[in-house]
Amino acid sequence: MNKIKFPNWKRAVIKVGSSLVAPNGKGISSQYTLTIANFIVQNRNMGREIILVSSGAVAAGMAKLESSKTKSNRSVPEKQAFAAIGQSLLMESWSRLFDFPSAQMLLTMDGLNNRERYVNAKNTLNELLNLKTLPIVNENDTVAVEELKVGDNDNLAAHVAIMAEADILIICTDIDGLYDANPAKNKNAKLIPFVEKIDSKIFALAKGTKNPNATGGMKTKIEAAEKAITAGIDTLIINGKKSDSFNKILNDDFSGTFFKKSKTHVAAKKHWLTHALQTEGKVIIDDGASDALINKGASLLSSGITKVNGYFTSGSSIYIVVLDGNNERVVAKGITQYNSQDLEKIKGKKSNEIEKTLGYFTNKEVIHRSDMVLINN
Ligand code: GLU
Repeated sequence: MNKIKFPNWKRAVIKVGSSLVAPNGKGISSQYTLTIANFIVQNRNMGREIILVSSGAVAAGMAKLESSKTKSNRSVPEKQAFAAIGQSLLMESWSRLFDFPSAQMLLTMDGLNNRERYVNAKNTLNELLNLKTLPIVNENDTVAVEELKVGDNDNLAAHVAIMAEADILIICTDIDGLYDANPAKNKNAKLIPFVEKIDSKIFALAKGTKNPNATGGMKTKIEAAEKAITAGIDTLIINGKKSDSFNKILNDDFSGTFFKKSKTHVAAKKHWLTHALQTEGKVIIDDGASDALINKGASLLSSGITKVNGYFTSGSSIYIVVLDGNNERVVAKGITQYNSQDLEKIKGKKSNEIEKTLGYFTNKEVIHRSDMVLINN
């Protein structure tokens, strides 16, 4: 048993690299994915929620065309075409392993940076989990090049874990974890089981990848771990070729390298909400809603809103204000699920009237508690 206690978790993002989906560059194979699928099923049976981030579209497309091009001699449009050919094969091969529906989500950096699309993607992801499907995420390679791209699925998986507010990010790769020296060159290299803080020394241990079909190496995995732990998500890098890596997790133990979530993550999110997001409008709420927000940890519902000010889209950061006589007092700031025109229509109404009023419905909360920070004054 490992000395470090494995955390309890309910929701995980599992990232599976091309080296496991398409080993030896020979197209998709179930050699390793079968064990991973079994792990996913067992966790779901225990009531846990899983989101899969899977690479392998480019490798699958290449194999389908019997192209023998290696990473260095593929043009960007060629890779995009390979991804377009391979993505459906990738989905098909995963779907075959499950008797519940899987759902494809293709994301880009561009979409993750746009608040409105981010909120839409987040809502879709949550709904897919509600529906007990298995969301399978990849980058939308055909529309994203260079600066539009996340670039590698390690970092994409960290973004997804943050969007999903996952408890843990599990990155499955083809080596045992992070070593203190290059294990291919140094037989005394030791595996680092536990990383409490990611600093330049940890990054210095990361070396490029050996697999010609994979995009990331250890460096992108550490970048992903850094993003995730800063957001309060424990991260584990394991060898996805070994079934023992998965058995250990099922027994609340782990192999590989565990990166502990940062203790200051709540403060980080609060800081981000308070300072980093430009506020684009405000809603005025009644005293009952204000009391629920301040004293009961509630989310903001449409029924508590009396007035909407400004022009903003869904996904914008807005102030939540209460009236003290004639004076306005800001009580909170948060990310709205509805735009200003729609809020104008649903203000003062009950949540179950939203759909009838707008002709659509995203969430019963206008601003969910987890997307809100109280402002004391
Ligand atoms: N999106 C690419 C693919 O499916 C993989 C990117 C990566 O491996 O990090 O082939």
